[in-house]
Amino acid sequence: MIPIFHYSGFFKTMDLSIIIPMFNEAENAEHTLVRVEESLGSFQGNYEIVAVNDGSTDNTLQVLERISAQNKKINIVSYPRNVGRGMALRKGFQESKGKIVVSIDADLSYDPHYIIDLVKIMKEDSQIDFVLGSPYMPGGGVENVPFLRLWISKMGNKILRFAMPSRIYTSTGIFRAYRRKVLDSLELESDGKEIHLEILSKAVALGYRPKEFPAILTGRKKGRSKFKFKKTAVSHLIFSAFEKPMMIFGFLGLLTLGIGVLMGLYVAYLRFTGGLTPGRPLITFVILLILGGIQILSFGFIALQIVSIRKEILRVQKENMDLKKYITEGFQANEINE
Ligand code: UDP
Ligand code: MG
Repeated sequence: MIPIFHYSGFFKTMDLSIIIPMFNEAENAEHTLVRVEESLGSFQGNYEIVAVNDGSTDNTLQVLERISAQNKKINIVSYPRNVGRGMALRKGFQESKGKIVVSIDADLSYDPHYIIDLVKIMKEDSQIDFVLGSPYMPGGGVENVPFLRLWISKMGNKILRFAMPSRIYTSTGIFRAYRRKVLDSLELESDGKEIHLEILSKAVALGYRPKEFPAILTGRKKGRSKFKFKKTAVSHLIFSAFEKPMMIFGFLGLLTLGIGVLMGLYVAYLRFTGGLTPGRPLITFVILLILGGIQILSFGFIALQIVSIRKEILRVQKENMDLKKYITEGFQANEINE
């Protein structure tokens, strides 16, 4: 028996899928769906809107069920327990049928009229594999976002610009368009907001090309933001460390080593001026700092190797998936012929 692999890229019948994750968005759901549909009025092709209910505890699901009963273009994916937007997006990607997939948030932080712009970029340039709506690039902008939240987000994206594999101004945004093959090549794991980094990192590692598109990000008007500062900061820092370990190990290692060397020079100076009191723990401390610094740097080098092995595994994974696709499609084609 030939094993049948599940290949989600097969039979993608839609031109476009819009994925909207929703956690407690009862106040926004209807308005958002109407606006998204309006924005697709000029779209040449068929599309679907996939609203993913991420275990809402308010009426989101009821609202969605009512709307989708009247509109065949709106599909619902729903599960009972709240996990996070990463899970919601992954489920949406899996269940959707579009050859191009757009993700956008339920509070219309990005005006849906941009959807057509993102799609157009990919239609016009076959070299571009995914497009990122970018408020922080020149030409983009932010309106009505609380000062502290904006500052944190801007700083975070500045750091990520160095940590991430390609120089991106906004790597944390949800508003993006992907070619199906990009999503199908990735084994995504993130449950939360860090999914945006995970996709960017893995897709670039596989050689897919991103492009940023300047967009205006507007603060939420209705409902509550689910943004959790501590959780987001920790997950994004960890991600940066995974991506560019030398950013952290290099900095800490050089700092420790530097302090050790400076203190060593001071000890040498004391020694020659005769001011060094025997028994002072200073020398031990200097040795500790220098050894510690070297050790931290060595960790960094090992971590670098691990990062490159991880990327290599990703590439093998992709080859594996391509192979499965080849086998499945070949197999199904035979079945159809019979
Ligand atoms: N979201 C979700 N599950 C969660 C948290 C958020 O599906 O656990 C959705 C939310 O409904 C929204 C999007 O993810 O559509 C972004 O969330 P939010 O607007 O609260 O975050 P922010 O834009 O403030 O970062
Ligand atoms: Mg939002």
